Amino acid sequence: MVCPTCKKEFDPNDSDSLPFCSERCRLVDLNRWFGEGHGLPSIPDPDADETPEML
Ligand SMILES: [Zn+2]
Repeated sequence: MVCPTCKKEFDPNDSDSLPFCSERCRLVDLNRWFGEGHGLPSIPDPDADETPEML
């Protein structure tokens, strides 16, 4: 089967972290999900908020 994290084919019999190929890939996936909630907040650029028109 294919590991959702590293997209590599592996033998499910060799892994005890299914559906991932390894514990490492399982944690990477976990962190990715956490990262989406608490990752970089999209702070609006203060410069972009200014109207360039000075007329
Ligand atoms: Zn993997």
